[in-house]
Amino acid sequence: MLEPAQSGEKIFRGIPVSPGVCRGRLLVLERPQDGRISPHQVKESELQCEVGRLEQAIIDTRHEILEVQRKVSEGLGAQDAGIFDAHLLVLEDPTLIEEVSRMIFEEKVTAEYAFKKVADKYAQTLSAIDDEYLRERASDMRDVTERILNHLTGQAPRVDLSHLEQPCIIISHDLTPSCTALLDKKHVLGFGTDVGSQTSHTAIMARSMRIPAVVGLENASVAMKSGDYALLDGFNGLIIINPTDQTLFEYGQLVRKHVTLEEKLREVHDKPAVTLDGARIVLSANVEQAADAEAVLASGAEGVGLFRTEYLFINRDTLPGEEEQYEAYRQVAAALKPNPVIIRTLDLGGDKFLSQLQVPTEMNPFLGWRAIRFCLQQKDIFRVQLRAILRASTETNIKMMYPMISCLDELLQANNLLEEYKRELDGEGIPFNRNIDVGAMIEIPSAALAADVLARRVRFFSIGTNDLIQYSLAVDRLNERIAHLYEPTHPAILRLIKMTADAAHKAGIWVGVCGEMAGDPIMTPLLLGLGMDELSAAPPHIPSIKHLIRRMKITEAQELAEFALQCESGAEILARSTAFVEKIAPSLFDTPRPRQAS
Ligand code: PEP
Ligand code: MG
Repeated sequence: MLEPAQSGEKIFRGIPVSPGVCRGRLLVLERPQDGRISPHQVKESELQCEVGRLEQAIIDTRHEILEVQRKVSEGLGAQDAGIFDAHLLVLEDPTLIEEVSRMIFEEKVTAEYAFKKVADKYAQTLSAIDDEYLRERASDMRDVTERILNHLTGQAPRVDLSHLEQPCIIISHDLTPSCTALLDKKHVLGFGTDVGSQTSHTAIMARSMRIPAVVGLENASVAMKSGDYALLDGFNGLIIINPTDQTLFEYGQLVRKHVTLEEKLREVHDKPAVTLDGARIVLSANVEQAADAEAVLASGAEGVGLFRTEYLFINRDTLPGEEEQYEAYRQVAAALKPNPVIIRTLDLGGDKFLSQLQVPTEMNPFLGWRAIRFCLQQKDIFRVQLRAILRASTETNIKMMYPMISCLDELLQANNLLEEYKRELDGEGIPFNRNIDVGAMIEIPSAALAADVLARRVRFFSIGTNDLIQYSLAVDRLNERIAHLYEPTHPAILRLIKMTADAAHKAGIWVGVCGEMAGDPIMTPLLLGLGMDELSAAPPHIPSIKHLIRRMKITEAQELAEFALQCESGAEILARSTAFVEKIAPSLFDTPRPRQAS
């Protein structure tokens, strides 16, 4: 979207998806031309050959994507490489392939023409559906289509973004995840796209690669020209063409402020998370893979509060075996000793799927065959994981917890299986920590309401606010149209958290939060005031949360929580919490926002 601005400047406003500021010359990528594909008629005798060409192009594309996936996995980790699973699934879709083959025979056309027609129809249908997740699948579809057509027509991709000669800001109608993953990090200063959203794979990839990015710029790729000089503001979602000296000066100041803040936060790295009046909080990190242990150490966190093990299972053809899982869990524990590492058992389902398992499509996947429900029915998979965790527990800092516990019976069933596998290991003479701490995630309202019952059977609780909020408020956590209703400070949520904390403390066990709420500094005093003993957040959030904890008193946090528990309005609670943290740690909220108010 174009905005009026100071003389000579043109401001485009989009959605900020990856923070940072950069400036340089634009490289505007042309939209792919489809003129190369005409409805060329094919002789009857050559139709089978067209189907053969299609099959070969699919095989070649599959190899190409696996290669990109391998490179991304090496460079960024399995979590990021996992997004290419969606691309591989497109290639394996039998309906799509059958429809293209049928069209080749019925209309007697080339493979590229038929493929383009059918794939465009699929992409259009997906992008018209009122669901952000499915709309993003349309972008996966276009990415794969482009690759297949390149193979069928023998054309090279438009620009080789992995080998650029000059530093530049890339502007494109859409940048596919596979292109983003291959961006030449030395030369790509930032990028902007006409389309996209916060949760698109491209946005996720940009954040992982720490490349400033703005999406949803609507018509930027048409309105901007290669060679234009521009400033990209990934904090506020702006691209400013021909920035004036004044603008450049303002941004220079703000970037310096940001760097100074990061330096200042380094001061708390080796210090404990303790309030001014002596309340000690355990501040741990959330991780997805063994290699993340380094980021945990660098953040100054005290161990791992949530190891999301499902990322060990995705982006591969076979399930990880006991030995491989044992090694991954043991490695993290050994790297972070003596700090605790809490391994969460498999939480598949919802928005996380395995390509190697044929799981039926569900109408409501978040209410379906997910997490502990899946594991209690897929005992072979659960057994391998529990044995691996138990074996790794000879590193005595390992603890474990079950996701999505909704009732006592599930917890008892899981614990019975755990005991059975302990006996198995005993019988085999394999050592493990028979006293391993077992906890439950509290992320379903029924678990929070029955927390007193559960608390008698576990050693700790970890509150998964991401799901607790979506289930309590009936707000799909992926749906941007109802995002305004996703309200962490809703009085009902705070009461459920308080109820869980009280039940835990009454039973003499500790309680923490490992949902995104724990990584938001505005929520820190509220959560501590509600009684949290531990907070677990993504490593980049740790320094600011620790800084904040060290600047507040637990008595002030308790007063804030008391106010919140009496208050009728989530907005009012949020306003009070924001004012409190802005007062005690103003530098945390001084992010670059020069154009936001204008
Ligand atoms: C949560 O629900 O808050 C949580 C931490 O689990 P996940 O985000 O993996 O569902
Ligand atoms: Mg959850």
